[in-house]
Amino acid sequence: MMKSTLFRYTSLALLAALLLSGRAPQAEPPNIIFILTDDHAQQAISAYGSTLIQTPNIDRLAREGAIFENSFVTNSICAPSRAVFLTGKYSHLNSVRDNRDTFDGSQLTFPKLLQQAGYYTSIVGKWHLKSLPTGFDYWNVLIGQGDYYNPTMINMGDTIRYEGYTTELITDLALEQLQNRPKGKPFCMLYQHKAPHRNFMPGPKQLGLFEKDTFPLPSTFFDDYAGRPAAEAADMRIADMYMGFDMKLMPEDYQGYQQGTGGKATFDQAGSWQAAYEALTPEQRKAWQQHYGPIRKEFIQTHPEGKALATWKFQRYLRDYLGSVAAVDDQIGRILQYLDENGLADNTIVVYSSDQGFYLGEHGWYDKRFMYEPSLRTPLIIRYPKKIKPGRSVSQMVLNLDMAPTLLDFAGLVIPEDIQGASMKPLLTRKKAKNWRDAIYYHYYEYPHGWHDVHTHYGVRTERYKLIHFYGALDHWELYDLAEDRDELHNLYGAPAYATIQKELMGKLTALQQQYKDPISNGN
Ligand code: CA
Repeated sequence: MMKSTLFRYTSLALLAALLLSGRAPQAEPPNIIFILTDDHAQQAISAYGSTLIQTPNIDRLAREGAIFENSFVTNSICAPSRAVFLTGKYSHLNSVRDNRDTFDGSQLTFPKLLQQAGYYTSIVGKWHLKSLPTGFDYWNVLIGQGDYYNPTMINMGDTIRYEGYTTELITDLALEQLQNRPKGKPFCMLYQHKAPHRNFMPGPKQLGLFEKDTFPLPSTFFDDYAGRPAAEAADMRIADMYMGFDMKLMPEDYQGYQQGTGGKATFDQAGSWQAAYEALTPEQRKAWQQHYGPIRKEFIQTHPEGKALATWKFQRYLRDYLGSVAAVDDQIGRILQYLDENGLADNTIVVYSSDQGFYLGEHGWYDKRFMYEPSLRTPLIIRYPKKIKPGRSVSQMVLNLDMAPTLLDFAGLVIPEDIQGASMKPLLTRKKAKNWRDAIYYHYYEYPHGWHDVHTHYGVRTERYKLIHFYGALDHWELYDLAEDRDELHNLYGAPAYATIQKELMGKLTALQQQYKDPISNGN
C-alpha cells in the first residue's frame, strides 16, 4: 500500500493509540460490520445444514469466510448475551445477569475502544440494554424489544416513528449510515435485527413463503422429560403457545380453547396481539388479512385438539419464524451488495451471529435459556477476505465472550487485561491454534421472575460431555455424554460408569468458576 493512502485510511488518533500500544500500525485498519440477530437458531441456517430454509446471503458469508461449528453463549438470553458481546465479560461482571438489569454504560466496550482509537462507530436496530448506547458516533435504536412493523426508534435522543417493516427499515438506516459515514476513518457498525424474535411476524414479502411447506416434527417433540425436572417445569412448549399473540388468531377463532400459557399466564396475549394488528397501516393489514383469513377459516373448520393442535401450532410457528428469518437473509444481501459496489468487501470484517440459539420444536419447545445444545449454540460466521481464507471451518469451542477481544485484535488494538474472552484471530488465520480452551462455562439467572420458568443453572461443557447444576428453588444435577446422546435425553449424573468423568467435570467447573470470578460456589 502506498504511504499516501495509509494516511487517508488511518486517523492520527488511531495511529497514536497503535503506537502507544507498542504494535506496528496496520496499513489499513479493517472496517467492521457486526450483524446480530435475535433468537436465530443454527437449525435455521442452510450453511449449518438446515433443511428447513435456504439462507443464501448468510451462506455466502460462510463460503467466503469462516464458519464456527461449535459456537456458544455464556448465558442464553437476549440482553445478557448482548452485554457479553459488547464487554467480553461474564454476566456477573458486566451488570446484566437477566433481562431486568440495566446495562452500565460507563464500562468499556469494544465499540468504545474502537472509537477511542479513531474508528467511526455506529449502531442501528435492536439494542435492548435499557440504558442509552454509549461509545457510538451515531446510534438509532429500537425501544426495548421493538416492533416488527412501523417501529418507534430513538435516533440520537430523538424519538421517531418509522413506517414499514422493521427488518427492511433497519437495513435502510444501516445503508444510509454507510453512505454518510466520514470516509477518512475506518468504521465499525453494529447492524442488529429484532427478527426473528417472538412473536415472529414475517414481512409483507415473506407472508406465505413457507405456507406450502410441512416441516418434520423433531424426534424429541413429545419429550416426557424423564430424569429432567427443570425441563419438565419449564413453560415453553409449543403446545402452550398463545392462540392470539403467537398463532395470530382472533379471540372469536379460538372459542372453546385455552388461550395458551405462553410462558407467562398473566400476559395479556389477546390484547397485545390486537394492538400489534391495529398498529399496522391499512395496506399492511390488508396483506395480513389476505394471508391469515384462510388460515383462520381452516382452523375453525378443522378444530384440532390434543396432539393435532400441538402439531398445527408447530407448523404455524415454523412458517412465521422462518418467514422472519428469510427477510433478514434478504436484507443482509443488500449490505453485502453495498460492500461489493463500493470496493469495501475485501477490508471489511463482516460478522454474523445471534444473541443465542433457539428451540425449533426440540423437546417440544420454542425459546432458549437452557444450557441444552439448541439454545447454548449460536450461529457464528466471520468473513474478512484480506486475512481469512474462504471456506474455513473452525471446530474449537468459542463463546460470545470472545467477540470483543477478537475484533480489537483484528483492529490491531491492545486487549484490556480484564476482558475474559480470548481472541479468535489465531483460529481464523493460523494453521493450528495453540492452548485453546477445552471447556466452556455457562450461567443462567432469570428465575423465578421473568418468563418461561427455567430454573437458575450453571454448568460446564467439554467437547464430549456436559455437566449442569440447577440450583436455588431446585437442586438437581445433570450429566450428558453428547457423543452417545446428542439430544440430551439420558441424564447420567451419578451413573457408576461415568464416575471418573463426573469427577473431572466437577473439577473443571470449579476451576472455571474461579477463573471467571463467578461468586457462586460450586454446590450452592
Ligand atoms: Ca434473543
